[in-house]
Amino acid sequence: MGNLSVWHEEVELTSFPALSKEFHVDVAIVGGGITGITAAYLLSKAGKKVAVLEARKVGEGSTGFSTGNLYATIGGEGMHKIAQKFDDQKLREVVESRTAAVDLIEQIIKEHNIDCDFKRAPWSLFTVEGKSQKFVEQERDAAIRAGLPVVSSVPYTAEVKDGFSVLNQAQFNPLKYVVGLANRIQSDTCRIFENSRVVKVEEGEICNVETEHSRVTADHVIMATHTPKGIYMVHTTLGPYREYAVAATLNGDELSSGIYWDMQETEHYSVRTFDSEEGKIVMVLGEMHKVGQKEENLECFHKLEAFLRKRFDVGEVVYRWSAQQYKPADTIPYIGISTGDRRTFIATGFAADGLTYGTLAAMIISDEITGWQNKWSHTYTASRLTPIASAPNFAKENINVAFELVKDWLANDVEKFSEVRTYEGKIMDIEGSKHAVHRDGEGKLHIVSAVCPHMGCIVHWNTAEQSWDCPCHGSRFSKEGEVLEGPAINPLKKVE
Ligand SMILES: Cc1cc2nc3c(=O)[nH]c(=O)nc-3n(C[C@H](O)[C@H](O)[C@H](O)COP(=O)(O)OP(=O)(O)OC[C@H]3O[C@@H](n4cnc5c(N)ncnc54)[C@H](O)[C@@H]3O)c2cc1C
Repeated sequence: MGNLSVWHEEVELTSFPALSKEFHVDVAIVGGGITGITAAYLLSKAGKKVAVLEARKVGEGSTGFSTGNLYATIGGEGMHKIAQKFDDQKLREVVESRTAAVDLIEQIIKEHNIDCDFKRAPWSLFTVEGKSQKFVEQERDAAIRAGLPVVSSVPYTAEVKDGFSVLNQAQFNPLKYVVGLANRIQSDTCRIFENSRVVKVEEGEICNVETEHSRVTADHVIMATHTPKGIYMVHTTLGPYREYAVAATLNGDELSSGIYWDMQETEHYSVRTFDSEEGKIVMVLGEMHKVGQKEENLECFHKLEAFLRKRFDVGEVVYRWSAQQYKPADTIPYIGISTGDRRTFIATGFAADGLTYGTLAAMIISDEITGWQNKWSHTYTASRLTPIASAPNFAKENINVAFELVKDWLANDVEKFSEVRTYEGKIMDIEGSKHAVHRDGEGKLHIVSAVCPHMGCIVHWNTAEQSWDCPCHGSRFSKEGEVLEGPAINPLKKVE
């Protein structure tokens, strides 16, 4: 079983050319996930000349590995935390703007007839075993204060101890949506390029955006790369996390369409169904941890599978995958011109709510570029300073980064190549430098520098995904050192 999401079952991926010729556009968009493709749609509709530069294929970032749920509420620390850190007005702005983003997705789907299984469904938060009951109560109060359509019923199969639902939220197949939209917007004035990794962005009156083989110049740049590439102030306020998913065939009880957040000790597991050609599939997502800080991560899949078997009558596990998210320090994403820039927009800190936030980011940024006053711009300003609201998470994430940096520079995993077993990755000191050593299934060693080129932390081996992951800001690399995701622009250095 590879690391493919359930959404790959029914979708034909896009096939756009790589950038090969230089030209000028109004807006260069780096990244072809939901944020980049929606921004391209809105900007080209407003008459701007746009180029999307995607390192791999459209939708192959977190968008195509998400749960496909669309809701006005938020996950993580929850809606009540926004009210606590700011006030009820801020909470209402977040909920209102997220509702508008879900509505825009529905409107785009209808207008362009995109076949992506969109349907309206309730979102439910509840506890079965009585875990995190206080959290459920706080969220219910916050949802009511935010003006959401709250009801007390939860249409789940297991008996619910306490919970509530918010009506009229939505679900879709996120990969089909983003691929469908990309195929419809591609034109002479809205060009999409795949296999076109951006390796350099230079701000100026005219911005320079270079790929490995060519470049575009642009009046504005949007970093729609989930976390901005390179060194940005915002990285100090983001917590990069990995999360896991398991999907299995559903034998017995019918679980109706809906977004089910089943509270565990400290976080929720997200449960939903999907009608595949072979029948109904139920999936669960959760078991989050900081990137690069859980080597024995296969256990995350085992826990999720055990949960599915406990709650439902399931058959075979048909898919399992994992994906990345970036948590903001003060619970609100960062959308707009970044600190120190004038023409580069960023859109990050969506946590696991970014199908909606990514769409909202595209709405806000395209309005800012076309000169429209967007009423939610100020809620999400990327260059904001919120020392009190950010302090606890800011301190937690940065102490953690400093700890990882120092700890890893002092230690090595092994002293000899023979200590690296098949499918393992270990850190080894070779002639005074830190090296990342992996032994593949055929016994061959792959050796690259262990120093993350982003900010100099030491990478850790990720057993489940066979990758090198940086515990500081979430950059991930293949066993050969190529960039998979995260803020790093350059690969891990090759070793002769
Ligand atoms: C397990 C999990 C489940 C989730 N479920 C949900 C959900 O149900 N609902 C919800 O709202 N949110 C969910 N999210 C969050 C959501 O998936 C993300 O926030 C959202 O997909 C982000 O979209 P994006 O377009 O900003 O980034 P991405 O989809 O990651 O797209 C970024 C793109 O940039 C490209 N790129 C990166 N570097 C470069 C470069 N140098 N040059 C060119 N291109 C580059 C990447 O290849 C990628 O395609 C979930 C997240 C996780 C981890």
